[in-house]
Amino acid sequence: MNFLYDGAINEVAGIFMRGKFRKVLFVADEDAYRVCGADTALESVFEHCLVSRFVGFELNPKLIDIQRGIEVSREFSPDVIVALGGGTAIDLGKLIGSLSVQSADSPDIIRGSDTITQKGPPLIAIPTTAGTGSEETHFAVAYIGDKKFSIAHEFLLPDHSIVDPQLTHSLPARITAATGLDAFCQAIESIWAVGGTEESTDFASEAVEIAVANIVQAVVEPTPATRMAMCRASNLAGKAINISKTTAPHALSYYLTSRYGIPHGIAVALTLTPMLTYNADVCENDCADPRGAEHVQRRIETIVKLLGASNPREACERFSEIVSKIGCPRSLAEAGITTTDQLQNIVSSVNEQRMLNNPRKTTSASLIELLS
Ligand SMILES: [Zn+2]
Repeated sequence: MNFLYDGAINEVAGIFMRGKFRKVLFVADEDAYRVCGADTALESVFEHCLVSRFVGFELNPKLIDIQRGIEVSREFSPDVIVALGGGTAIDLGKLIGSLSVQSADSPDIIRGSDTITQKGPPLIAIPTTAGTGSEETHFAVAYIGDKKFSIAHEFLLPDHSIVDPQLTHSLPARITAATGLDAFCQAIESIWAVGGTEESTDFASEAVEIAVANIVQAVVEPTPATRMAMCRASNLAGKAINISKTTAPHALSYYLTSRYGIPHGIAVALTLTPMLTYNADVCENDCADPRGAEHVQRRIETIVKLLGASNPREACERFSEIVSKIGCPRSLAEAGITTTDQLQNIVSSVNEQRMLNNPRKTTSASLIELLS
């Protein structure tokens, strides 16, 4: 079940009661847990349970943390997992719960050479950022060394998502900006994605509309209303990419995060406007979407309108203005990435499978040119 309202954290008690849960594995970003205000509600539920706490993991799920979590989970055998935090905590909750019940080796499943066959314990996802929308998706990110993998399976979709905007009230501006940009870009990418459907486009369009109207205030001068709005945008963007998946800006972003430590949402936004310009010039010869170039152009028009612009160039300006107002770099150059070597490394890091979801076909040469 999916709950989204101020105070939704109190739903956890009912979920525990209905599920008769007694043994909980709590996967939590400790810093977020300390400040977000979820502790009063959760500790009163945990009082009646056996609790194992999995904390102290690195940002962006790493194999070493996943394996440590799997060991804890196998030993403890929880009847429910509660994951609280940003995308990392929720993805860890998904991976630890699921991988701990598979007979196949975890690194093989992560690399895609083996598959998930069993459902793990029920997962309750409680995001404290707005956000990755991970509470609404059936995939998780994992890093083995520098290499990023995306694991997708219906069993990874959380059984319950508790989105309580009040938990985001204490988020510092920089995290609000980075996570808000992630939601914003996920929604834009979803609209032009080859995997996009009418349903995902409806979710994504609403998310873009809400983000355009609220992201700047949510960062600069947050109010309960703008926090609520960004939580809705993030949740809708999650529902959208759960269907459509993401495209080029995401594929290009992972290296920027692992190599340069640029926060995920900021890294994605760095290549959004070059890709918008590039995708807007799609023609039949280089169109990757079987529905044709005209279909893609209509989708781009939708994005342009949602950004309050009348053509793709204006839409890029509008997007860059928002990025600048929330204090983030608008381009790779502004993020300090200027040399051809650096661009080449970014382009050669890209997962080609993910690139196939971009509506206009790309080559290494076309990517380097458009990012220069
Ligand atoms: Zn993302």
